[in-house]
Formats: sequence, structure tokens, C-alpha cells
Amino acid sequence: MKKVAILGSTGSIGTQALDVVDKHGMQVTALAANHNVQMLAAQAKKYHPEAVCIFDPSKAEALQNLLKDERIEILTGMDGLCEIASAKSHDILLNSVVGMVGLLPTLKAIEAGTDIALANKETLVAGGSLVMKNAAEKGVNIYPVDSEHSAIYQSLQGNSMNRIRKVILTASGGPFFGKTKADLANVRAADALKHPNWNMGNKITIDSATLMNKGLEFIEAKWLFDLDPSQIEIVVHRQSVLHSAVEYEDYAVIGQMGVPDMKIPIQYALLYPHRVECPTRPLSLTDYGTLTFEKPDYDTFDCLRCAIDAITEGGLRPAIVNGANEEAVWNFLGDRIGFLEIAELVRGAMEHVQGGEVRCYEDVLEADKAARAYVREQIEKK
Ligand code: MG
Repeated sequence: MKKVAILGSTGSIGTQALDVVDKHGMQVTALAANHNVQMLAAQAKKYHPEAVCIFDPSKAEALQNLLKDERIEILTGMDGLCEIASAKSHDILLNSVVGMVGLLPTLKAIEAGTDIALANKETLVAGGSLVMKNAAEKGVNIYPVDSEHSAIYQSLQGNSMNRIRKVILTASGGPFFGKTKADLANVRAADALKHPNWNMGNKITIDSATLMNKGLEFIEAKWLFDLDPSQIEIVVHRQSVLHSAVEYEDYAVIGQMGVPDMKIPIQYALLYPHRVECPTRPLSLTDYGTLTFEKPDYDTFDCLRCAIDAITEGGLRPAIVNGANEEAVWNFLGDRIGFLEIAELVRGAMEHVQGGEVRCYEDVLEADKAARAYVREQIEKK
């Protein structure tokens, strides 16, 4: 029985991963959540892990009370996440926490030599060079959970990486596809939280609306598959049926299709290389009838361009863009800034926050902090 530890177990990816665990009878060794103690305690009672971690320390006592009759170690904060990531009691760590906070646990898991199912894209965006270098040195496998990267990973099976001409990264276009900047001036968080195809957490849903999600995925693809930015083509595909594809030297294009359900890529990452029945539904192409493909609108969705500019420049620039975006998105969700200001703040941070080389984790952390501080300052000035 394969053993799994899950960081972010109460989120959208975490709960769907537990559906996969239920289906295949995997053993859960540890669970971690940000602040949802009720759900975390219920999960702990169901799966009997060795340890649970609540990231928010103010919730630790409540968790202790809920689990006082269980023999489960209770951890908290970044130390707790890292203790779980460093433990050797699981075969694979699913990292599905939201944001840059996922980077250090990823590095700890690599240090411990544990394979990772990676759903935390900010890990690779902010610290891609460190993560990929350390993983290669330790012989650690990183299985992408993001649907697009899973599709690319699946399309690479049986083929040689050095025969890739390019990858085609598909984008749904988000809830504001076809809109102009004028249309988007008065958008509120509630409007942006309605995604047409995917059911996801708040941060990623806003990132999908600004197309920053695709920008982050562009950077993620660069690191995961060792590509030059010029080898990645973003294509808007409204139906989210083709999850991405790879074009080879002979111009053969191999892609992966399926219904838009994260359980397929989650299961592939957890059970690789096995293909067994997944708790989802089959794809009916005739129900869709037509699949469409278009170029993205870079002018309306400047976040996308920012991310591509950042990885083209390299160094700490992607960490700055990521940090600025995280800060801006939380402020948008809190109704403190407008929708278009997210991209303006990210572009501002991109231009004004000092960059440099990525030598170690602390460099990334500093760049991230500086970008967030820049965004907060701009918002306070208003
Ligand atoms: Mg994705």
C-alpha cells in the first residue's frame, strides 16, 4: 500500500486527493491545513495519520481539543509543514498548499529524498532553479499535479525530451475571456470567483481570471521540462478538454484529453506510472462537438505578459512577480483594490523591486518580501 502525506489537505486539491486515496486504499501518514481545524480534525479521525499540522498557530489549541482522544502528533506553523515534509514515513508527499509558503517544505522533502506530487505552482515559479537542481542531485521525482503539466508529462511518456520542438500550454481563458479593460474596470471578487470549467480555491480562481495562472504555469513548465521560454506556446482553448500537448521534431503533436476534473492528474501523480480507474466520469467528445483554439489577449491581461517577461529575464524576477501577485490577489479578495490594479501592481513591482541571482532559499524569500512590501506601500498610498 502506497503511503502519502498531504500538505493542504482541506483545500480543493487535498480533498480531491483524498477521494483518490479512498478509491485505491492508500495509507495517509500526515495531513496539514492552513486554518480549517474542523475539517482537518474530521480527516484525522477518518485516516488516522501519525501527524497533523495546522499552519495557523492560533488554531492549534482548538485542534488539540478536537483530537484529544486520538494518538496523533499535533504540529503547527512552517516548522510543522517542514517536519512532515522531512519525515521518511511516506512514499510520496502531495504539496498542495497555496502560495510561496510551499517552497520551503518542497526543499525539505527533496533533502529527505522523497518523491513529490507537486500542486503548489508558486514553488517552481519562485524557486524553480533551486528546486530542479536539488531534485536532480537527490534523484527525487517531481510529478506535476497541475492539469496542463500532467498532460505534458503524460505526453512525454515513451518519447525523448531532446526531441521536443515545443509544448502547447492550453488556457481556458478564464471567466473574462473576450472582455476589454473597460469591461473589467468595475469587476469585484465575487464576479471573478465564477470560473466556467474548473472548481478551484480562491487564489487560483482569481489568477485564472487575470490569466496570471497561465503565466505562472508558463514558468512552471519552463522549470519542470527544462524548456526555453521560446518553446512554450499558450493557446486559449475554452472547453478545457485538451489539457496541453507536446510537439516533437517530426511535427507530431501528442496531447492528453479528458473531462476537466483534477482527480485525473492528481491520481496520475500519486500512482504513476499506473493507469487504473479514476473516481471521475468519461469524456464524450460528441457531447462537446466542437473544440476551439485561439491566441491569448496579452493587452487586456497584462499579468500574463509580466510572467513571461519575468522568466525571460530570469534570476529573482519570477519570485518578485509571484510575491507581488500573491499580495495583490489577497487585497483584491478583501475588496481593497480593483481587478485591473492587480496587473498594475505586479507590473510596478516587476519594474521597481531589485532583482538579482537566485543563489539560495533566502534570496528568494527576500525578493518575495520586497515585492509584497512594494505592493502594500502602493495600496496604502492610494
Ligand atoms: Mg492548471
